[in-house]
Amino acid sequence: MPCKSSEELNELVLEAKKYTKYGKVADYIPELKKAHPHDLSVAIYHPNGTCRSAGDIQQKITLQSISKVLTLALALIDCGEESVFRKVGYEPTGDPFNSIIKLEIMNPTKPLNPMINAGALAVTHMIKGKNIEDRLNRILSFVQELTNNPNVTYSQEVAKSEFETAHLNRSLCYYMKQYGVINEDVEELMDLYTKQCAIEMDCLDLARIGIVFAMDGVEPITNKRIIPVDVARICKTFMVTCGMYNASGEFAVRVGIPAKSGVSGGIMGAVPNRFGIGIFGPALDDKGNSIAGLKLLEMMSIKYALSMF
Ligand code: GLN
Repeated sequence: MPCKSSEELNELVLEAKKYTKYGKVADYIPELKKAHPHDLSVAIYHPNGTCRSAGDIQQKITLQSISKVLTLALALIDCGEESVFRKVGYEPTGDPFNSIIKLEIMNPTKPLNPMINAGALAVTHMIKGKNIEDRLNRILSFVQELTNNPNVTYSQEVAKSEFETAHLNRSLCYYMKQYGVINEDVEELMDLYTKQCAIEMDCLDLARIGIVFAMDGVEPITNKRIIPVDVARICKTFMVTCGMYNASGEFAVRVGIPAKSGVSGGIMGAVPNRFGIGIFGPALDDKGNSIAGLKLLEMMSIKYALSMF
């Protein structure tokens, strides 16, 4: 079903776009520098399958940290809650997503949560499969099922660009390997992780993932359960407590929905039982969240009374 352009959303996008000038496109992954800082688009997917949008929703984005929620879901399905949380914790860090500090000063054998890079790398390590290719294919099939789009794949350019420059993430892996959190080859894990982060889709696909979480793991059109209800609940809880990095507290106050952002400028939102939201706005604030995307969500939260609190 095509996504209908909405005049109401368009007005909000035009208003929020004014903030793009205060943000900056991520540049530590060289390929992401190519994004246009003033882009902003949104798609909202409803449980009845209708969709409203504003901006250029055909524009593709890579998931980056948004993929962490999806690999968490898959690892929970693969290994169960107990084994996953033996390796990673439940608590927000208050630090930037790529920080190493808490690993050293709090607990080197357990990254604090699955949404920071250290925790996400430990989670990707848990995804089952015969080899890296098989594990990547499992992640891709899962994402294709969530989006109901068999064409979703990863961007080779973005994956390569991150793989070649991800020295900080490599150091997190080596640190965790030293302490037995992971025991596979670091280059192989980095290969898988950078491909997972480079999975590419448009805002509508992103909104479709949002609606599956909003509906507790069921795709509302096909009525198919894709994620067990407890796994969806755990993922949404982490989206609330850690989904917007070290700005999650403020986001909970200002917007009040489970959401996950990525440094590509994507935000996936899940408004319980109501909407899936996909946003793309590559200009980021100093915490790494889409600056205009956040503004847009704040305005939407007021206009449509989205906060769950
Ligand atoms: N691939 C990115 C990284 O590991 C994802 C980070 C993010 O989106 N915050 O650095």
